[in-house]
Amino acid sequence: LSKMAKETSAWRAHCLILPYPTQGHINPMVEFSKRLEHRGVKVTLVTTNFVSKDIQKEGSSIALETISDGYDEGRISRPDNFHVYLERFSQVGSQTLTELLEKLSRSGCPPNCIVYDPFLPWALDVAKKFGLLGAALFTQSWAVDVIYYHVHKGELKLPLSESEVLLPGLPPLEPQDMPSFIYTLGSYPGSLEMLTGQFSNIEKADWVLCNTIYELEQEAVDWMSKIMPLRTVGPTIPSMFLDKRLEDDKDYGFSVFKPNTDACLKWLNDHPKGSVVYVSFGSLVALEDEEMQELAWGLRMSNSYFLWVVRATEEAKLPKNFAEETSDKGLMVHWCPQLEVLAHEAVGCFVTHCGWNSTLEALSFGVPMLAMPQWTDQSTNAKFIMDIWKMGLKVPVDEKGIVRKEAAEHCIREIMEGERGKEIKKNAFKWRKLAKEAVDKGGSSDKNIEEFVAELVRS
Ligand code: UDP
Repeated sequence: LSKMAKETSAWRAHCLILPYPTQGHINPMVEFSKRLEHRGVKVTLVTTNFVSKDIQKEGSSIALETISDGYDEGRISRPDNFHVYLERFSQVGSQTLTELLEKLSRSGCPPNCIVYDPFLPWALDVAKKFGLLGAALFTQSWAVDVIYYHVHKGELKLPLSESEVLLPGLPPLEPQDMPSFIYTLGSYPGSLEMLTGQFSNIEKADWVLCNTIYELEQEAVDWMSKIMPLRTVGPTIPSMFLDKRLEDDKDYGFSVFKPNTDACLKWLNDHPKGSVVYVSFGSLVALEDEEMQELAWGLRMSNSYFLWVVRATEEAKLPKNFAEETSDKGLMVHWCPQLEVLAHEAVGCFVTHCGWNSTLEALSFGVPMLAMPQWTDQSTNAKFIMDIWKMGLKVPVDEKGIVRKEAAEHCIREIMEGERGKEIKKNAFKWRKLAKEAVDKGGSSDKNIEEFVAELVRS
């Protein structure tokens, strides 16, 4: 950040950044915020009262404000009450965001733009009442956004009746490659409406941004660019990680969980290059008990070293004494600094649920993936990982939809030792280079952010 701007308050503009309040949405928004700050734009991150309690703000100069989603004591997160949460957030959030904007408009440096997560389209309506500019920042892949756009427009009829879905800018997709809310319609009430609702007022947005790389989703992006002012700005990963430099990042603050950096990295340091399978299912996914056990034995049978993130709430699903019995091969942790882990040369494969951040991170670090998609956009991401970007394999499931230990073992061996693994590693190198180029000076995403800021400052 230009120190001068901070000291003299000579900010070029002031953006409010409003993420959807989960880790996978906060991370890319915070990283995008840092890029704005580096260009002299003041940033105020707005989170919900509940989430703000867990945010670590060490060393960061980004200002923090809170609004209420109506659940200041936390919410009971059940798939069947999701629509209730969204409805309440929309009502209470509109009110509390209005109050915040009133307060900030009386401050010395009022905001002139909101960068909001389109999961919360009402934020744009509120901001427009105050005359602010608005940028929607999509935090899922552009391919899934194209799918939801067509559902929103009524151009993709549900339930799906074709065995192959053909949409502009996308490869042919089978029904099971579609996001789960489309493939298993009605499974999570409110979810599909939220995702298609991202486009409900998009014509009022002054910019549409997406955390993806142009070269990764060129056709889908080109197609949509004819309809809306779309710009790719990803991967929103600190460039120090892309350079594989692992010094202390003073700016690493702003994480919802505080990772146990030392234990994981020390353990990785003791293992040879490319020898470790890293396993994580992100911040939300819960595996079936049976699947967790099968995966555990599959890992054991593969004979590879493994670093497995098992959140505390998932731990009871592991086979009895698994951690103790496999301590010669594996390290199990509740949470880890994923960027540092993926950037570590000991990691040779990433068993992932294919959340968009994890996918983009693995791709950007050139780490081959073993896809075990669970729900939402993950099945679409898995399709692209395996068949389009050729960056990994998708583990086959049995007739009950469960990954069996033999399948897990076989796929891990394929990636770690097999011929297909070699092919994947070659591609991985290509994507890693491309991701770095996109955010380096003059790269596609760097240019897009530069232009966004220039337009913002001029407006
Ligand atoms: N993450 C992390 N440590 C972990 C697991 C996840 O730092 O042990 C981070 C990961 O790097 C990513 C985010 O949490 O940025 C998860 O986002 P993703 O979209 O992959 O999945 P979600 O949690 O939204 O399902």
